[in-house]
Amino acid sequence: MRFAFVSGNPALDLVGTVGSRDKPVDLLAAPADLEQWVLECDELPDKVTADAATFTSALRLREAIYQLALDRMRDRPYAPASLDIVNAAAAGPVPTVELSDAGLLLSGDLRSALAHLARSAIAVLADRHACLKECGRPGCTRLYLDRSRGARRTWCGMEGCGNRVKAAAYRARRQAAAQGRDPGTATRGPGGVSLPPNGRELP
Ligand SMILES: [Zn+2]
Repeated sequence: MRFAFVSGNPALDLVGTVGSRDKPVDLLAAPADLEQWVLECDELPDKVTADAATFTSALRLREAIYQLALDRMRDRPYAPASLDIVNAAAAGPVPTVELSDAGLLLSGDLRSALAHLARSAIAVLADRHACLKECGRPGCTRLYLDRSRGARRTWCGMEGCGNRVKAAAYRARRQAAAQGRDPGTATRGPGGVSLPPNGRELP
């Protein structure tokens, strides 16, 4: 697997293909990257071909979904241009589904995959109870759907960001503890006075 699917919704996973929104690194640099992403996404057909035009539409759809998700999280009206892009993509034909002994079989072209992604985005954005969040690790701007009890999830994924934050906190605690053990800073108590065992000064 080259791509991460941790957002709880394929449309948000697509948004996450831009590594960090502060210093953008686009993991979908070429049509072949998008084909691989669609292959790895469980909810989409395995084999699609991305031509230049559909690839451009996919990136435009991704940025429109990101914009709408931000609008939703910041509690402001949706950007009309982004609404148009997502709604137009959602109107197209979606992949067909078939049941077989091997499980679910999805088929369709890249346009149908984009239609499915747009519909997934609409479903999550229209759900008033859906709790959309941005990852709490500095530098990670991935969006995710928090389905945890009490919506107490802080990271996009425990394996990636959660563990990195915990490891950094552990290192910081160890460093602080090592500094605290420095003999130059050790004290014996208030005023450095030693009292006898009964706690009173001898007459
Ligand atoms: Zn993260």
